[in-house]
Amino acid sequence: MEQHTIYLDNNATTAMHEDVIEAIHQANMLYGNASSMHMAGRQAALAIEQGRQSLASLIDAEPSWVVFTSGASEANNTVFNIFKERIDLGSKRNRMVTTTIEHPSIIETVKYLKQHGYKVDECPVDHTGRVNMDAMKSLLGEDVALVSVMLGNNEIGTIQPVAEIAELAHRVGAYVHTDATQAIGKIPVSMKALGVDYLSLSSHKFYGPKGVGALVVKAKAPYTPLVHGGHQEGGKRAGTYNTASIVGMGVAASIAQRDQKQEQMKLWKLREMLRVGILERISNVVVNGNQEHCLPGTLDVSFPHAEGESILLYLDMEGIMVSTGSACASGSLEPSYVLLASGVDIELAHGSIRFSFGRYNTEQDVAYVLEKLPPIIKRLREMSTR
Ligand code: PMP
Repeated sequence: MEQHTIYLDNNATTAMHEDVIEAIHQANMLYGNASSMHMAGRQAALAIEQGRQSLASLIDAEPSWVVFTSGASEANNTVFNIFKERIDLGSKRNRMVTTTIEHPSIIETVKYLKQHGYKVDECPVDHTGRVNMDAMKSLLGEDVALVSVMLGNNEIGTIQPVAEIAELAHRVGAYVHTDATQAIGKIPVSMKALGVDYLSLSSHKFYGPKGVGALVVKAKAPYTPLVHGGHQEGGKRAGTYNTASIVGMGVAASIAQRDQKQEQMKLWKLREMLRVGILERISNVVVNGNQEHCLPGTLDVSFPHAEGESILLYLDMEGIMVSTGSACASGSLEPSYVLLASGVDIELAHGSIRFSFGRYNTEQDVAYVLEKLPPIIKRLREMSTR
């Protein structure tokens, strides 16, 4: 019997689009070092510049603002390093502000900075994971150098009022960064409309290759390289260009820009079908995150009296691939820090499952999950000693 495989973990990563795979294949033949002045080098450089333009166009930024990186983790680290260095050099603005539900590449960077004596405040969020704006306002002052708030949360999908926060932060003279990794391709993202100075993204979240992304930096925003040693990217990030991956990301960006509107509608429809279907078929479930300000393809649900990891494994046996909380925390049985920070009960934080849709999912996928999930939850609840 043929086994169904249904991939509902698109926030962890996406399958590359076939046009991206083809473009990468072609670009792999551009063997020249893009920094070389000869013909092979110039050909690679030209392909990279096309990728830069496509990426900039997707997020309504200038091509010259794009600094290619290995992904959003590096981009996020680069931003905090810029301000760490300014503080080291004696800047009077010596405090940074972020939130409690950022991606680990920021949460752990902040932990490291605090251990080394830097002042970083983490703004609390409400029970839906939205930034508490009163708390944010009280954290903003003339001593703040950087405010970093993610656009869409990877785990619960909550979208933050980044434009509003950017305006408030700029009023006190702080620079603003947003980690837009999960929002790209799913909702319209305009760096200019958001008004942020820095934006991080990662190609594999929008059907591009893994290991490539960008930090997009407005022209007058401060900058210090994290990776030294070469003149690439105008001295902003050293290392021989990853030509094929940058080309692949550029093609993925063009597709994302072309299809964003339909994708947004389709993802929301599938997500809502699953949400409503779960609520109809399974009692005592809690849908996490903000239901109004939400990434269209993300549905995070807690099933009390059923362990998240067990649900994941039983679903996997049926060919349904999901994640518990954030993928980056999988392998550990720690409750979701995002849910805990949103004030969700610890038991609910243990039993959460993230379903994240992508462009290759169908209504049949949702129907299949709605057939397989209820008996799994029933069995686990019967086994539960609680
Ligand atoms: N930020 C967010 C919001 C993410 O979801 C991810 C990927 N899980 C990252 C940053 C890091 O991206 P990468 O692993 O590609 O560097």
